[in-house]
Amino acid sequence: MTHILVIGGGIAGTATAMALHKAGFDVTVHEAHPDTAEDIGAFLTLASNGMRALAQLDASDAVASVGFPLRSMRVLDGQGAELAHVPLGEADDARLRYRCLRRGELNAALQGEAMRRGIGFSHGTRLVSVENGPEQVTAHFGDGSVATGDLLIGADGLNSTVRRSFAPGTEPVYAGQSVFYGYTRNAVVAQDTDLLTMVRGSTGTFGYALSPDGETYWFARVTGPALASDELGHPAPSHWRERLVELLRQDATPAADIVASSSDGIMATNATEIPPGTPWRSGRTLIVGDAAHAASPATGQGASMALEDAVILAKALRDAPGPESAFALYETCRRPRVEHNTTVSGQISRGTRTPPSTAAGRTPSPSPQRPGDDTLAAQLDWDVDLRTVTTTTRNAD
Ligand SMILES: Cc1cc2nc3c(=O)[nH]c(=O)nc-3n(C[C@H](O)[C@H](O)[C@H](O)COP(=O)(O)OP(=O)(O)OC[C@H]3O[C@@H](n4cnc5c(N)ncnc54)[C@H](O)[C@@H]3O)c2cc1C
Repeated sequence: MTHILVIGGGIAGTATAMALHKAGFDVTVHEAHPDTAEDIGAFLTLASNGMRALAQLDASDAVASVGFPLRSMRVLDGQGAELAHVPLGEADDARLRYRCLRRGELNAALQGEAMRRGIGFSHGTRLVSVENGPEQVTAHFGDGSVATGDLLIGADGLNSTVRRSFAPGTEPVYAGQSVFYGYTRNAVVAQDTDLLTMVRGSTGTFGYALSPDGETYWFARVTGPALASDELGHPAPSHWRERLVELLRQDATPAADIVASSSDGIMATNATEIPPGTPWRSGRTLIVGDAAHAASPATGQGASMALEDAVILAKALRDAPGPESAFALYETCRRPRVEHNTTVSGQISRGTRTPPSTAAGRTPSPSPQRPGDDTLAAQLDWDVDLRTVTTTTRNAD
């Protein structure tokens, strides 16, 4: 049986392992973090396309107890006036409805489900180098251990060691916004729990949603220079709170009060992306998820695209006659779609493109309900041979 090493047990790596396992491959996941890293990261949304991919892995139930659903989105301007109020994705289908989740909780739920299925996880093993041989691929880890497989899938995120092993010149690029995430139970937010509010303010975009148990999840994307690396790790929540409140007070929206009521746990990041055109594969090695195509968070598609990668890669390896043609088929299916997302998301972050939700005359929706969706649905459908699906996939706007 083909043995596949998956490097990285984040959302892309864990989902890829589940998909490969479902397709009948023998898989082991090697994750640098010593445990499921439940406490790491902020929150994210899974869009309907990500939920569709999850359903193909029979993993919808595994995440049903994590996070909460979102059915619609309203958009406010900097004066608090409503510009749009639209359904989000496939809101009428409970299985495909958008979901807002803490990233660590989603990751822990997926890892738990993968282990329950018998997939091997080796935590605390950090890849340091890859040896791509003609017959096998060998992974070397920081603790001195070694693993050998027929194929190696790099799902090791933005600063991927696997990517650097065959594309050493490629580095993440700043996408024009710093991004902050926080939570508060002290904000007075007058809205339903299944609503995402987006504020197009004068200094960037602010978003918030209210969980059923009364916690407000919020993020702020602020346009301007990147935060310095020594500042990114600033431990005092008051540091970021005060800076953000000062910026957000320039507008007449609920944003400043929500941030002001947040007592701790504010996380600061820089929006970054992997440049389109980056190589994805070499010999017996291929990268997926953020390692291959990290995008700025403006379209909120990072985790959903990673879940799509997982299903389509496993189908390619299942359906194509050999690994070389499978990797080529995978890339043909995936590259146009994910790179379109990277480009659109980067343009929104840099302010050179209007988000679909406020573009004049557009039906505001980040959902995948547009021409080309049938192709994506067929690519994701576990029962459809990937080779029979045309690859004229469109995406994102
Ligand atoms: C704070 C934050 C908020 C986000 N918000 C959103 C959002 O709202 N919507 C959205 O769709 N996406 C969001 N994203 C992005 C989203 O989480 C990712 O795009 C998605 O999860 C896919 O990630 P990944 O699994 O490819 O990479 P990662 O999540 O980075 O996982 C990579 C894994 O590889 C491991 N690893 C790294 N190096 C090595 C190594 N050398 N050896 C072994 N293991 C290694 C890491 O420990 C990690 O577990 C957010 C990301 C962050 C950090």
